[in-house]
Amino acid sequence: MSLPLFKGWKHEKGRRLRTEDGKSCHCGARLARRGNPKKSIMKKQDALKKYFGYETFYPLQAEIIDHVLQGRNALVLMPTGGGKSVCFQIPALLKEGTAIVVSPLIALMKDQVDALQANGIAAAFLNSTQTDEESAGIISLCLQGGIKLLYISPERLAAASTIGFLQKLRLSLFAIDEAHCISSWGHDFRPDYMKLHVLRKTFPDVPLIALTATADRAIRQDILRQLEIPEKFQFIASFDRPNLSLAVYSGRKRLEQILSFLSRRKNQPGIIYCLSRRMTESMAAKLQDRGYRAAYYHAGMGNAERSKIQDAFLRDKIQIICATIAFGLGIDKSNIRWIIHYSLPKNIESYYQEIGRAGRDGAPADTVLFYSYADVKAHQDMIVDAPKDRQELLLAKLGRIKSYAEADICRRRILLSYFNEQPPGDCGNCDVCKNPPQRINGTIIAQKALSAVARTGGKVNITTLIGILRGSHNKQIMESGYDRIKTFGVGRDISYAEWTDYIFQLLNSGFVDIAYDDGYTLKLNELSRKILQAQMDVLLTRPVPLEKKLETIAALPQKQAADDGLFERLRALRKQLADENNVPAYVVFSDKTLLEMAAVQPRDAVAMRSVSGVGEHKLNLYGEKFLDEIRRHENKD
Ligand code: ADP
Ligand code: ZN
Repeated sequence: MSLPLFKGWKHEKGRRLRTEDGKSCHCGARLARRGNPKKSIMKKQDALKKYFGYETFYPLQAEIIDHVLQGRNALVLMPTGGGKSVCFQIPALLKEGTAIVVSPLIALMKDQVDALQANGIAAAFLNSTQTDEESAGIISLCLQGGIKLLYISPERLAAASTIGFLQKLRLSLFAIDEAHCISSWGHDFRPDYMKLHVLRKTFPDVPLIALTATADRAIRQDILRQLEIPEKFQFIASFDRPNLSLAVYSGRKRLEQILSFLSRRKNQPGIIYCLSRRMTESMAAKLQDRGYRAAYYHAGMGNAERSKIQDAFLRDKIQIICATIAFGLGIDKSNIRWIIHYSLPKNIESYYQEIGRAGRDGAPADTVLFYSYADVKAHQDMIVDAPKDRQELLLAKLGRIKSYAEADICRRRILLSYFNEQPPGDCGNCDVCKNPPQRINGTIIAQKALSAVARTGGKVNITTLIGILRGSHNKQIMESGYDRIKTFGVGRDISYAEWTDYIFQLLNSGFVDIAYDDGYTLKLNELSRKILQAQMDVLLTRPVPLEKKLETIAALPQKQAADDGLFERLRALRKQLADENNVPAYVVFSDKTLLEMAAVQPRDAVAMRSVSGVGEHKLNLYGEKFLDEIRRHENKD
């Protein structure tokens, strides 16, 4: 640990450190505080700028910090990227003593601690990845009072010796991260978390703050009860993530769409979520073939291999991860710029959690969901295998995400209302807001298609149907004599792509059925007959060409600043510094900070300091190097 863990402390001969309750320091180290032993009273606002380089608090952060500084317990529910860490890190910095952070994500601890140290904060962790010697070193540092934040795994905390060790420390607070793990209602239940109530019993006077991004009412009640947090001490932030663009595309020609999407996102890290392991592998192979630094990740791989991939992604050595949902929980990479769902997730909770992994630094990030009715069918088939008493719930949840995917109103409205929030208006950052669907009377179009289905006796799939409608003379159509039916060629005025779009709309609205078990052939149903008999009208939306759709996804962050290449230069410098220090690039500076730097182009330390994300420590460490790069860019060398 090369960073100044002992900042503000010095050894002093002949004096033993005494904790306030009168016990002498366990290890016998002789330390005393430099200068005024009474900690200077720093304001939370100053700490935010000094340590993290930020000017303003995110919603609820300031309230939560004040609350905890008053010695109260709290339950914090904030979406991923909402800024939970600052809620306990600033109180930990402002209070005397050591804060204990309990987190189940062992793989993340090192990065979290690296990120704190990069901001000049004395932090350390204790978990099973360390040797006995390493943890003894950390324990002794804590006993000397040299650590402000100590991350501990729940297993470690549950060990009898740990409580004894904590009793010897002066504790500022407990932070329980991923607090939903305490509840057996949740999906990540950890039995060791149930033992956390011991903390309340043993340290009744140390404030405790529980934090999570996923907890419905039942889980929240469980957390409150087990950790003895009063009901009224809950802080629930908005789940809106306005920097994430939302888009749903039809699931046709997915690879083509993905390649087009990627061609506009050079070097931007992202995740493609797939439903099966096999799919992750084939997707990664296809992308590698086209020169992308892509890899796959799923639960069937060995631990070592998985953490190798994860690490390479964290360090921007791999740009794209094709993953099953196994990938994500352990990912704390703030500069993920896009997420693609290759297939429909099983419910809105999973979907929102997965897209939430993008854009945690607050800079724009894009999310795309591919939707096809076949995915719905695949989920339905899986639900049949689920326990009987769960099936109804699973189907209802599937129904909700299906209507999200098919929606023609602002998608963010739908998501937020799912989480019981009423957004003030349309978001302007989803595909529906950007390309409001144009409604047309599609009755004639539908009748043409359905009548062709009828005349072929329900024996054709979508491709053949379009061939018939457009009057194609291909072999199959000629051999089957479809060129002689009445509807042959009645849809020549509509392009192949548009026909496909219309037929999918008919399918999604239930105006025609598709038999997956019979060569994907189209079949008439009750509604089809009504339409053919002109008993009902059909509303369709005008298809939007793919290129146009892709253009309207959120402005690409690199576009704003990197027109003249400065952002790329700063990014290269960041990568070099990160590699030298053996930390992920975003630990040096986030994308958002680099974008601002490229836009503002600070000329001196004062201007540099005003860039969001440049704190005191990073200014000292990296300020000059980045200023140099900006100057060189200006002089065109
Ligand atoms: P969470 O744990 O809720 O997902 P984090 O604590 O990791 O979120 O914060 C997400 C990102 O936002 C981090 O890069 C963090 O440094 C940044 N951040 C937190 N608070 C602020 C703030 N007040 N202003 C700007 N950025 C912030
Ligand atoms: Zn919208």
